[in-house]
Amino acid sequence: MASISMDNIVKQYGDGFPAVNNVSLDIEDGEFVILVGPSGCGKSTLLRMIVGLEDITSGELRIGDEVVNDKAPRDRDLAMVFQNYALYPHLTVYENIAFPLRLQKGQFSADEVDKKVRRASSLLELDEHLDRKPANLSGGQRQRVAMGRAIVREARAFLFDEPLSNLDAKLRGQMRTEIARLQRNLGITTVYVTHDQTEAMTLGDRVAVLRRGILQQVASPRGLYDQPVNLFVAGFIGSPPMNFLAGQVTGDVLRLPIVDVPLDDRLRAAIGDRELVIVGIRPDDFEDADILSDDKRGVGVTFEANVDVTEWLGEVLYAYVPYEIHESVRDKLDELDRELDGEGMRAQLVVALDSMSPIRDGDTATLWIDPAKIHLFDPESGDNLT
Ligand code: ATP
Repeated sequence: MASISMDNIVKQYGDGFPAVNNVSLDIEDGEFVILVGPSGCGKSTLLRMIVGLEDITSGELRIGDEVVNDKAPRDRDLAMVFQNYALYPHLTVYENIAFPLRLQKGQFSADEVDKKVRRASSLLELDEHLDRKPANLSGGQRQRVAMGRAIVREARAFLFDEPLSNLDAKLRGQMRTEIARLQRNLGITTVYVTHDQTEAMTLGDRVAVLRRGILQQVASPRGLYDQPVNLFVAGFIGSPPMNFLAGQVTGDVLRLPIVDVPLDDRLRAAIGDRELVIVGIRPDDFEDADILSDDKRGVGVTFEANVDVTEWLGEVLYAYVPYEIHESVRDKLDELDRELDGEGMRAQLVVALDSMSPIRDGDTATLWIDPAKIHLFDPESGDNLT
């Protein structure tokens, strides 16, 4: 096993802006790191540079203590686990796992091959399936065979490129937990590329968010959710996404399209001498004021909202509240939403309420927010000010 260390890594394909732009990231031995971002942000290119399938334009890549920029992929001792598992359909599970060892002719005795295959299959709980062909395995078992091939080679790290993107939602959920469990049991350094923020949030020790080739933030899932560094990360992480609204500062009040929030010290310090900020509020941070828990009474701000549509999903009630987007932030938010693979900014607040809430379509509801949960962003740079 090994650490993977990237120092100012650049990939330039032609003219244009670099596909990967000065990325520095240290992945510890045994760590599970997710590379995430929308289509074209450079995550696959970065992974392919780590594994050696793509040249590095500039910067330094180290595996363990060794600089590997110019090393051939097979000499890097990394295992790429492909999306389609790349198993041989005519070989048994045993032979599929043994395959990488048989390729290195003469290097391992039949006994050694057997030992390694049995050790890997026991780690992966495949012992009972060694005689089966891939066609007779579940998706999860196939994934484990693919990982078994990496284990027998004693790869120093696993690299995954969107391994679950072809699966249906249910299987994807199962496989996600399976990969997380295996990675924890094996303790092998893992880099995992996805554009799916649920995978990013549930799998990794740390998540690295990329935008247009530039690393935006590397943090624990919780860290990204609670303290996104900018509008992009705030909008990318979280489902449904954070609500963004214009906030106009007038005297001691932050005026939003839906509610006036009195300025406290934290908000005032963040605003500085700005007259306009972009306000971010997560759907989860609203409550139905009529069924507020005791600890929240007496703090926070309540306001009336005209609910357009509600969706009751059993564990949560979503309420949609239309509002007027302020001209000053329309273009910026519209552009951000398109970049995040949305359809452009829609002027509606998404509110996630306790499923016990009786609020229904067309109601005028009394909602509650805690100003301590409000994020403020600079309207020009998009940086988080709170
Ligand atoms: P996706 O999720 O769509 O695969 P990604 O985040 O993995 O996206 P990359 O595939 O790494 O993004 O691509 C990053 C940028 O580099 C994109 O603008 C892409 O068009 C460009 N690119 C990727 N491969 C090549 C190549 N071989 N030649 C030229 N440009 C490339």
